[in-house]
Amino acid sequence: MGNTIFSKIINREIPAKIIYETDNILAFYDINAQAPTHVLIIPKVEIPTILDFNKNKHSELLVEMFEAAIEIARKEKIDRTGFRLVINCNSEGGQEVYHLHMHILGGRQMNWPPG
Ligand code: 5GP
Repeated sequence: MGNTIFSKIINREIPAKIIYETDNILAFYDINAQAPTHVLIIPKVEIPTILDFNKNKHSELLVEMFEAAIEIARKEKIDRTGFRLVINCNSEGGQEVYHLHMHILGGRQMNWPPG
């Protein structure tokens, strides 16, 4: 099942540097890092975009993604200095992979507004 590169990472068909995994969540370093820490947190179940979020089906999953972000921030020692969580949605949001994911970026000063 699954059509994106992230399904292949979940199924171990292509390699990724995994930092965190539970039954429902996987997190791995972004292949094109935009900051000293750049990790992608994904649900194992395929949800194309945040617009496909379903309160009945996915609420606990979203909580787990935030729990993963906190744990990764601590592991990467960016919790005290700070970090950014990003979910891109559709083309103007800059989404390239249509499997819901949250970016966690840190280890440098983030700017606002983002590009
Ligand atoms: P989006 O633009 O959809 O929010 O983010 C997709 C992210 O996935 C990009 O930051 C891109 O660098 C990352 N990415 C794309 N293909 C791969 C891959 O095969 N492995 C890893 N680790 N990251 C990938």
